[in-house]
Amino acid sequence: MPDPRPEALITLRLSGLVQGLEEGDSELIARAQKRLGIDESALRGARISRRSVDARKRPPKLPVQVDLVVPKRFGSKALSREERSGRVRPAPMPGSLTPAQPAGPVGRGHVVVVGSGPAGMFAALPLALGGASVTVLERGAVLEDRHRRLVPFHRGKALDPESNLLFGEGGAGTYSDGKLYTRVDDPLEVPILDELVACGAPDGIRFDARAHIGTDLLHAILPRLRQRLIDEGVNFAFDTRFEGLELEDGAPQRVTGARTSRGTLACDGLILATGHSARDTWKILAGQGVPFEAKAFQFGVRIEHPQELITEARYGTGAEVLGPASYSLTSRADGLTQAAHSFCMCPGGRVVASVNEPGTLCTNGMSNAAHSSPWANSGLVVTVTPDQFPGDESNPFRGVDFQRDQEQRAFHAGGGTYAAPAQRADDFLTGRMSTGDLKTSLVFGAEPARLDQMLPEFVTRALGLALERFERQIPGYSGAPGLLLGVESRSSGPIRIPRDRTTRLVQGFSNLQAVGEGAGWAGGIMSAAIDGAGAALALHAVGNS
Ligand SMILES: Cc1cc2nc3c(=O)[nH]c(=O)nc-3n(C[C@H](O)[C@H](O)[C@H](O)COP(=O)(O)OP(=O)(O)OC[C@H]3O[C@@H](n4cnc5c(N)ncnc54)[C@H](O)[C@@H]3O)c2cc1C
Repeated sequence: MPDPRPEALITLRLSGLVQGLEEGDSELIARAQKRLGIDESALRGARISRRSVDARKRPPKLPVQVDLVVPKRFGSKALSREERSGRVRPAPMPGSLTPAQPAGPVGRGHVVVVGSGPAGMFAALPLALGGASVTVLERGAVLEDRHRRLVPFHRGKALDPESNLLFGEGGAGTYSDGKLYTRVDDPLEVPILDELVACGAPDGIRFDARAHIGTDLLHAILPRLRQRLIDEGVNFAFDTRFEGLELEDGAPQRVTGARTSRGTLACDGLILATGHSARDTWKILAGQGVPFEAKAFQFGVRIEHPQELITEARYGTGAEVLGPASYSLTSRADGLTQAAHSFCMCPGGRVVASVNEPGTLCTNGMSNAAHSSPWANSGLVVTVTPDQFPGDESNPFRGVDFQRDQEQRAFHAGGGTYAAPAQRADDFLTGRMSTGDLKTSLVFGAEPARLDQMLPEFVTRALGLALERFERQIPGYSGAPGLLLGVESRSSGPIRIPRDRTTRLVQGFSNLQAVGEGAGWAGGIMSAAIDGAGAALALHAVGNS
């Protein structure tokens, strides 16, 4: 009689394989199977779990990692050999967005989530799956409307402070490259990627180390993700600004409601997922006793090149199958000169003015799925630490003041039209104003400016050293084709909200959490989503013991 119990399986993760540019995925998986001596009768499943590009070789190589599912009792000489070499190990078990623990009073009640970025969306889902009633408050517009409300900005420079490139459905990453940095190896990474794939993201995001979705595709995925949440019972309130907490006194304090631009909403728990630009909201919260700390953040410029220059330098010829090349460069500290690095590189993309406050300018980059623009851009940034922020050390918002001051200078140096103050890389290095037509993908254009004088001296010095070094890795990078555009000031957030490690409750509160980039606990789409989901799973169970 066949054994009715489900077969016990194990996923073996094999690393150290290199895929040829012409080699198909099924051929590669067959090679991995052979390497571990797994024949077809023993194989229960297989997938590539990581693929990156090693551009140090010509043609570039693709290091890969393959997951093979076999019965737990499986063994072979080849497997033992690979285990001894350390190239094979059991793959970590993926986590789940459905809470495993029984709900506590918060998880059974009504939870308000402030912000519909990745942290807020993926906080709402586990709570709803666990039985909570969830309302997501979003100050900006629903996606379809958000796009329409951006037109006056891009055509007439009339910035809407409530719905813009940073605020609105999907959060700050909605107009981005949609790069998914999936190196965190968190158990929640797999279920989050699965949700995105179910909503239309390409399957490759599950394993591609350079995975990106692109703005056009993100705009198809987001409404499906919204619908998925609505189907689980989540309510969305767009164009609704959170304006403060209703509190019940005590130690710890308890949140009983959310004040909004459309009235007060009673709740049993509240998650702040406001992103890194909700400066007005932070001030209100600080006034209500929510603790804040100043934290280090990235600051610098965006640098733009013709994509051809980057691809040629990185891949040479014969690697067209890889598409437009990206890069990730680091310049170490040297004596008093700080380290600097490239950040959030967008191949085939364009530079955008990511601002929510009129009269300020902050650059960033976005691209579509096909990476089809002729431009490559990237942040070129330095880590600025709280001891480098001017102002009173007891003021946790002095990093915000530093950011705003630099953003206002950039706005004025660009002529007050959202054009970016710009300088060619070679002129930056020699301390000259650039002349001639400064071509850029930024819709508002570029105006010549002495960025080398405008930026704080320690930033100019660190960027200068980095440019000299990066030129050796990408010839032409720091010459006339490289255009620096100021300023890149919001690659990460300048404050942190201290919280408990396990429950992730904000210090001093019994049912308030702060998650994602705005709370200083994430940087990037995936890490914000993971932080939101992890916090929600903890909040679901608060008080159930
Ligand atoms: C142009 C650009 C490109 C980027 N590219 C990438 C990339 O390729 N890959 C990557 O990993 N990361 C990228 N990032 C960073 C990424 O977008 C953020 O790390 C991520 O979105 C943070 O998620 P979050 O949920 O914490 O906050 P956010 O995404 O910022 O979401 C916060 C939301 O809260 C809302 N909100 C704020 N205050 C209130 C309030 N008072 N009431 C109601 N709602 C409020 C905001 O409107 C916003 O929608 C990019 C960012 C930008 C700006």
